[in-house]
Amino acid sequence: MRDQLYINGQWVNPDLGGYFETLDPATEEVIQRVPAGSEEDIDHAVRAARRAFDNGWGQSSGAERADWLEALATELEGRQDALALLEVRDNGKPLPEAQWDIGDAIGCFRYYAELARELDQQQNEPLALPDERFRCHIRREPIGVAGQIIPWNYPLLMASWKVAPALAAGATVVLKPSELTPLTALELAAAADTIGLPAGVLNIVTGLGADAGSPLSQHPQVDKLAFTGSVPTGAKIMSAAAADIKNISLELGGKSAFIVFDDADIDAAVEWILFGIFWNQGQVCSATSRLLVQQGIASKLLERLVEAARAITIGSGLEQGVLLGPLVSKGQLEKVLGFVEQATRSGARLLTGGKRPAHLERGYFIEPTIFDEPAENSIIWREEVFGPLLCVKRFNTEEDAIRMANASRFGLAGAVMSADPQRATRVANGLRAGIVWVNCSQPTFNQAPWGGMKQSGIGRELGRWGLDNYLEVKQVTEYIGTEPWGWYLK
Ligand code: NAD
Repeated sequence: MRDQLYINGQWVNPDLGGYFETLDPATEEVIQRVPAGSEEDIDHAVRAARRAFDNGWGQSSGAERADWLEALATELEGRQDALALLEVRDNGKPLPEAQWDIGDAIGCFRYYAELARELDQQQNEPLALPDERFRCHIRREPIGVAGQIIPWNYPLLMASWKVAPALAAGATVVLKPSELTPLTALELAAAADTIGLPAGVLNIVTGLGADAGSPLSQHPQVDKLAFTGSVPTGAKIMSAAAADIKNISLELGGKSAFIVFDDADIDAAVEWILFGIFWNQGQVCSATSRLLVQQGIASKLLERLVEAARAITIGSGLEQGVLLGPLVSKGQLEKVLGFVEQATRSGARLLTGGKRPAHLERGYFIEPTIFDEPAENSIIWREEVFGPLLCVKRFNTEEDAIRMANASRFGLAGAVMSADPQRATRVANGLRAGIVWVNCSQPTFNQAPWGGMKQSGIGRELGRWGLDNYLEVKQVTEYIGTEPWGWYLK
């Protein structure tokens, strides 16, 4: 059991001596106590990160950092099974999903190791200027100290999306995981400790949003804030960043549409619709939670979809064959049940689910839930539920589908399914979203940019864009003219 903070390469007790408990959402039992970091702990961590940046890490080569990232990936690989089990206990997700996530997290460290190596070759890139008396080259330098705040839906994976590119770029990190799922982040610290990552390069401070996240977002020695979470918290982070003009990137919520045309293969459509909304209990920022189905196949598709949703096995993530685990917390379950009540009151038709499964007495479980034809201005159609709740509406024309999909304050993702590639391309181009899936929903790759338009966020993670989040661009311009400049001194 790790119940200490990881600051400056040391395991330390929280300065104020506070702790909170993290629960197993399938059993509602306490797993362990976790240190409640405070402003003092954040200050220690940020100062350690500053020193580590100024005294070596910030000046190291990409190749050196690549070696560290690869060592970290190998260390995590050795702990893969234990990490997956811990993720299931802390978050609730089914074990195969946790195994998938941990594998992806390791892949993310390896991928950014590659980009760190390439960075050395891209350094001092010459830039042609229109005036031959000047020579210019471009440097890409690490941004400094990164304060990173992450949510609970993919605990170690979200940590890797933040930590790997930052370290690859040469930034140092203070990471605050979600108070609901802090355990695998502490294991990441343990892995860093085992490989002997230089002190202060990676600091992990567990704690509550108001007590640890907020001081991190306000600390004057933090150069960059990277946040994934809800829109209201994102707005607070943005205000904090505004106070001293910190660089920020925000990955926020979504209410993504899945458009299915009547030429689509019904089995494939059902499969991807289910994957798009019930994977990870629907607690996915990019979940395709609004289904837009063309009139021609609507009744047949819905019949198949409801039947398949009812067949999903619900239970503890550790049980074999389970495809839907509990939601992460009591609060999240209550929130989702609240949405169900509101949807019913607003007149949407409940096709299946909407309640806790009768056979499970404990745990924060809810059945896969599908509502038909909520009003376009209803809360259930507009707001992010972050649970296994799908809303369905019908459309007639391609133009209607695009208009309905885009009528949202969010713009994270979208999906389209059609046998006509030209139509799929037109729809993909028409969607105002940062991620569009054609004939599928959700597959995510370390190489491809991740992030949203509108209120879904600012900036992109993953791929080379993720590395750019932690790099400053510097021009170095040299006068090489043979004549004196001759402006003042004629
Ligand atoms: P949240 O905003 O409640 O919390 C996210 C993190 O912020 C947690 O670590 C929390 O402790 C911290 N926090 C809370 N208040 C804070 C404050 N005042 N200052 C600084 N930090 C604070 O979100 P959540 O409930 O953990 O996650 C769910 C949300 O995350 C959903 O809206 C979902 O869409 C979004 N999300 C987005 C992506 C993406 O890539 N776009 C990925 C995963 C989750």
